Amino acid sequence: MRGLVAALLALALVGCATNRDALQPVDAGGVVVHRPCPTPAAGPLPAQTLARRLGLGYQDASTHVLLADEVTRVRIWKDSDELSVGGRSVRLGDRTRRQGGSLIVPTTMVSYVQTQVGEQRSRLARPVRRSRPRTVRPAMVPPRLPEAKPVGNVRRKPVPVDPPRAQPAADPAWTPCGCERRWRWIVVHHSDDRRGNLARYDRIHRETNGWDECGYHFVIGNGTESGDGAVEIGSRWFKQKHGAHAKTPDNRFNDFGIGICLVGDFESDGPPTRGEMDALVRLCRWLMARYRIPLENVVGHCDCKATACPGRYFPWGELRARLGATAR
Ligand SMILES: [Zn+2]
Repeated sequence: MRGLVAALLALALVGCATNRDALQPVDAGGVVVHRPCPTPAAGPLPAQTLARRLGLGYQDASTHVLLADEVTRVRIWKDSDELSVGGRSVRLGDRTRRQGGSLIVPTTMVSYVQTQVGEQRSRLARPVRRSRPRTVRPAMVPPRLPEAKPVGNVRRKPVPVDPPRAQPAADPAWTPCGCERRWRWIVVHHSDDRRGNLARYDRIHRETNGWDECGYHFVIGNGTESGDGAVEIGSRWFKQKHGAHAKTPDNRFNDFGIGICLVGDFESDGPPTRGEMDALVRLCRWLMARYRIPLENVVGHCDCKATACPGRYFPWGELRARLGATAR
């Protein structure tokens, strides 16, 4: 039986060569979900090759390269971990480097760009749904009134219309490409300081803790060093790599827990901002639905080990009520 499980696991791993790092199974329960990439992400790649594969034009500027066509614009910065797709910037942790005359794009970026461009194209290709014409009973049709003619040159003002209430939706950038871990928990943290963003924690985790990259999968900003409620995606997420945020003897919350850090000190200063809570709810809803994570598995760092994180002012009642209302 163990041999069979190992063989199945090996098969799953072979089918997914792009994210080997994420695929180190920790125990037999750690089987990953395999979802084939629309285009296999093989990297690192020269930027020109990536442009050719995506059917995009290529332009080399002094600070960045541009991969573009009429609808898609991808900017990849030189000697940096930053890129932007359609004006939306992200930092993925792994840096581009120059080799000869080429800019070498790391695997994480290749994978991200392929996913984003693929999703953008499929969104554009989706046919617009037309609602069926409503049948109106003749008795319901109001009598047609003669249209009032504008006097002189007076232009009719457009009637202000309230925009439809925006339903908080998932960000397409959250969707990882390729193999996805079988996530079982969402672990909420506070950053335990007043200012911060993903780049800051990435630097601290690398330089102070000696880790390979930021330990969290997502960082939600409080308006200091990133937007209020801005969800920044850690490079771990794109690799679908275990977290480094909630160590326990069996390490299960790191192995199968998605680490979300909200910027702020909720132990001393008060609760998170409204923007942070809205973003957290939106992100949790999406993660819970995608990985079938039950509400009781949305926990705080303090539920994993003896720590105050995410602080006494963190509004658990509100979070559970809002997530529970969706789950029901
Ligand atoms: Zn924590």
